[in-house]
Parts: sequence; C-alpha cells; structure tokens
Amino acid sequence: MEYDVIILGLGGVGSAAAWQSSLRSRRVLGLEQFHAGHDQGSSHGATRIIRQAYFEHPDYVPLLLRAYQLWHKLETKVSTPLFEPCGLLEVGPEDGELIPGIRESVRQHHLQLQELTLSTAATQFPQFVIPKGSVAVFEPTAGFLHVENCVLQMQAAAIHNGADLRFEQAVESIEFAGQDRILVRTTVEPFATRRLIITAGSWASKWLSQSNIPLRILRKQLQWFATNDLRFQSPHCPAFFYECANGWFYGFPAIDQAGVKVAEHSGGIELVSPEAVDRALDASEAERSRAFCRQYLPSITSPVVRHDVCLYTMSPDQHFLVDHLSELPGTVFAAGLSGHGFKFATVLGQALTELAMDGGTDLPIQFLRSSRFAG
Ligand SMILES: Cc1cc2nc3c(=O)[nH]c(=O)nc-3n(C[C@H](O)[C@H](O)[C@H](O)COP(=O)(O)OP(=O)(O)OC[C@H]3O[C@@H](n4cnc5c(N)ncnc54)[C@H](O)[C@@H]3O)c2cc1C
Repeated sequence: MEYDVIILGLGGVGSAAAWQSSLRSRRVLGLEQFHAGHDQGSSHGATRIIRQAYFEHPDYVPLLLRAYQLWHKLETKVSTPLFEPCGLLEVGPEDGELIPGIRESVRQHHLQLQELTLSTAATQFPQFVIPKGSVAVFEPTAGFLHVENCVLQMQAAAIHNGADLRFEQAVESIEFAGQDRILVRTTVEPFATRRLIITAGSWASKWLSQSNIPLRILRKQLQWFATNDLRFQSPHCPAFFYECANGWFYGFPAIDQAGVKVAEHSGGIELVSPEAVDRALDASEAERSRAFCRQYLPSITSPVVRHDVCLYTMSPDQHFLVDHLSELPGTVFAAGLSGHGFKFATVLGQALTELAMDGGTDLPIQFLRSSRFAG
C-alpha cells in the first residue's frame, strides 16, 4: 500500500503529527523503533510544564495558544487526565533572563500574569522560599501535562481515525524514488509514500546530516523526593521554575504518593549518541537538585525515591527547527526542540501536517525555519 504520509518516530511530536495527519487522510503510517509510550527518548517521565508567558521568545506565544486549543480538544475525547491547570510559580532576578522574558511575552500578547510581592508570595505559596532581591510571578493559565497519557492518547486518536501505527520497527533508510515517491525501508519491510514527516527527536541528526546544523544531545536526570508536606500535593500546589545563580531548576507537585519531582533545566551531560546514555542515578546531579530543595523547598528533605533519565536535543540557538528538508522532496521535519518542546507537540503536529500535505502553513513558524543557520 502506498501512503499519503509516513511519520518517522512516534514520540511526542510524531504522535501529534500522526493524529493531525489522520484528520486529513486515512492513508497515514507511523513508524516507531520502540514500543508505544516507551522511555528511551524525550517524551516520558510523568509530567511536562505548559505555560504561555514564554520567556524564551514572544514569537512562540501564538503557537502556544493554538497548542492549548488542541490539547483541550484532545482532552474532550478521552477519559484519562492530560492537562492539570495548577498554575506556575516562577522566580528569578529582576534583570535575569526568565523574569524579563516572561514580562515581554505578557506585554506583547496581553497574557494573564500575577506579579507577587515577597509577602504575597510567602502567604500564597509558603512552601517555597523566594529569596530577597528576586522577583516572583504566578502564571494562572499554566500547568502541567501528563506526558505519557498525552502521547498514548494522540496515538489512540490517530488509530481511531484510521492511521496505521507500527511499533518496534526502526526506519533504516529513506530515499527519493522519483515521481513524487519516497521509499522508507525499515527493519521489517519497505513502504512508499508521497510525504514524509521526520520527528526523530535525539535520533534526528542521521536524517538531517546534509543540513549541517549541529544538534547536541544532553542527558537529563529527573528526581522524585517523597514528602508529607501536604502543601506540595497536587492539585493545590503549582508547578515551579527558578532561575538561580547556580542554574535553572523546576519541578512539579506531588501526584498521589509519587513525591515532588525536581530537575535541572541548565547543565546536563553531553552524549555522542542517544544510545550512549547511562540511566543510573548520577549522584552529583541528584545532589544539585537536593541542594536546590534545601534552599528553596526546605520541607523537602527525603532522599531521591525515584529517578528517570531523559534526553534534550539542543539546536545551536535553543529554538526549534521546523522546516522542509531541502535534500529530500516531500519531506518535512521538526528537530532540536531544546528541552522545551512537549507543550507544543499538538501545534507542531498540525504545522508539520500542513507543511507536508499543503507545502506550507498559516501557523507563524517562520522564525523556526532552519535557513536561519544558512552560512
Ligand atoms: C527531562 C526533560 C524535561 C522536559 N521538560 C519539558 C517541559 O516541562 N515542558 C516542555 O514543553 N518540554 C519539556 N521537555 C522537552 C520535551 O519533552 C521534548 O522537546 C519533546 O518531548 C520532544 O519530542 P520528540 O517527539 O521530538 O522526541 P521523542 O519523544 O524522543 O520522539 C522521537 C521518536 O522517534 C523515534 N525514532 C527515532 N529514530 C527512529 C527510527 N530510525 N525509526 C523509528 N523511530 C525512530 C524514537 O524512538 C522516539 O520515539 C523536557 C524534556 C526532557 C528530557
């Protein structure tokens, strides 16, 4: 069978692309090297922050607003929880990167944000320490996504619409076969398609080698700390994000008895390949998160009760790459999501589907084109 679209990689973004493509065609094939909802890439580990006041760049905000719409649309179709609107507490220096960036997005896009004085922050969020001299803001429209549920539900929605999703089947080669046809060979069998969407996460470099855009892979460690402090219990506690002098740390309220999840957004161990990852607990990384807790979440004192390892794929400027693949007609890709891409999965799925099927999209993704690195 010849497919209208093949999606290479069914992590967060590929599953969204499968869902969005399946709304347009019944001949959609998704190929994934591991099992559904696996923990080898970048879309696992229980939770992901979703927020609108985007400190990274205000141009992401229109995409976020569309991403929110699509997450809510998906949520209406399923019975498992996807989005927890617990809000987000963000803390950093007045003249740092986080707070000025948030304020700029809020200013340009008229978003909701509560500026907190140190005393209102202490009253509203007594479980957190807000150091003197720093600024605290609360974003009420933010929250977190249940990451594995999101991936599995997007896959289920795609299958429901007639998409053919195959797991434990790695793509080994892709080639242009002329006349609008692309041949995709897997470890099991070959497939033909008119359009190919590459969403290979940390494995993307293999397919983008001619673009010469260096993607770096970082190992990231997540830790869960047990707590009896009910103020950290979901749904009464916000997610949190701190820009500190020694790094950027973030975390999530305790869900059921799982503990408070804390991780470092900065740093990370660089890997030569996604397979080269050591998934054992790294004691020095765990100690950095514990030190963050001692300083800012002082009632969290337990040892690490669970940990996980996950991969960031960094573009040179830490902004996403979403574009046509110039060397292979009919092929589009998303890559280099740089540790902040999951919240966008739904809208990236739509953008990739439109780029692949229509040759372009009205979504404002021009700032993510790979041509910004030309020369
Ligand atoms: C620790 C951590 C915390 C994060 N926190 C946040 C957050 O709070 N908010 C947020 O928005 N984002 C966050 N991110 C980033 C976000 O999770 C990622 O940007 C996003 O999940 C990337 O999705 P992806 O589909 O590109 O990659 P993946 O989910 O890794 O999917 C790529 C898929 O392609 C498959 N694949 C690759 N090669 C082949 C092949 N040859 N054949 C078949 N299949 C193949 C892989 O197996 C994989 O399933 C975080 C990331 C990490 C690691």
